[in-house]
Amino acid sequence: MHRVILRDDDTNALTPVECLEQLYRPFLHRGLPVNLAVIPNVRTDTHGANGALEKFLFAKRADTPLELPIASNTGLVRYLRENPQFRVVQHGYDHSLFEFGSDQRDDLANRLDQGTALLAAAGCRAPRTFVAPYDRFSRVSVSEVAKRFRVISAGWFELRRLPFAWWPQYAMKKMLKRPHWQVGRTTLLTHPGCLLSFQRPYPTMLKTVKKQVESQELTVLVTHWWEYFREGKPDTAMLAILHATAEWLASSSHVRVISFDDLARGPCLPVCPTTVTTC
Ligand SMILES: [Zn+2]
Repeated sequence: MHRVILRDDDTNALTPVECLEQLYRPFLHRGLPVNLAVIPNVRTDTHGANGALEKFLFAKRADTPLELPIASNTGLVRYLRENPQFRVVQHGYDHSLFEFGSDQRDDLANRLDQGTALLAAAGCRAPRTFVAPYDRFSRVSVSEVAKRFRVISAGWFELRRLPFAWWPQYAMKKMLKRPHWQVGRTTLLTHPGCLLSFQRPYPTMLKTVKKQVESQELTVLVTHWWEYFREGKPDTAMLAILHATAEWLASSSHVRVISFDDLARGPCLPVCPTTVTTC
């Protein structure tokens, strides 16, 4: 059996409900959980590493405040509550550039706790999974995250950005070429890049997804809602690929779609047999 976790990043107070509905109704209709990495208090002036305004802010207007808590979008909050197959995980605090790359422990702790509080204020259950904006951690931030969350989902982990005490487990993961690993009660998941992206070749996108899912026991599939609505217009070809993915996931008897919460619920997370004994 191959397990899949679908993760969609960057939902924030400026995300139109219609975008999520158009993307994910086929998943919800089939009972497949969709994990939304939600920005609790988005900074609406966030520019990415390339200097451009982040695309997930495309609904920003001239009078949009500098910060927007997720609860300020009442329509979105209601929609998430009405569709419990959406599972909310915490995506940073405000998604400013490399916000979790610093070593300022008090500031990092505050961002984590305030972010969780803002998600709670929007009616979300306390998230057990954390996704760092830009996949950027520091030794300090990743240890603060591990104190609060059961699962950390990232593209990759860098040795020099990990606490020294974690190095043996990381070395073991690298030696055994495992995608996922564990430190104490925290499971650290990596993903194989954003396979569902407009930057990938469309004709082979679904085939690549299938091959990846069938190559390992647990795959985190990452996508971004705003990629399907670049400049505010739907990319129907890419939407069709996502919906074909939903159909394949639901109809494949050897594939099971789970949520991060499903993974976090167990007393032990058997994602890396080498470290099960430490659970
Ligand atoms: Zn993001």
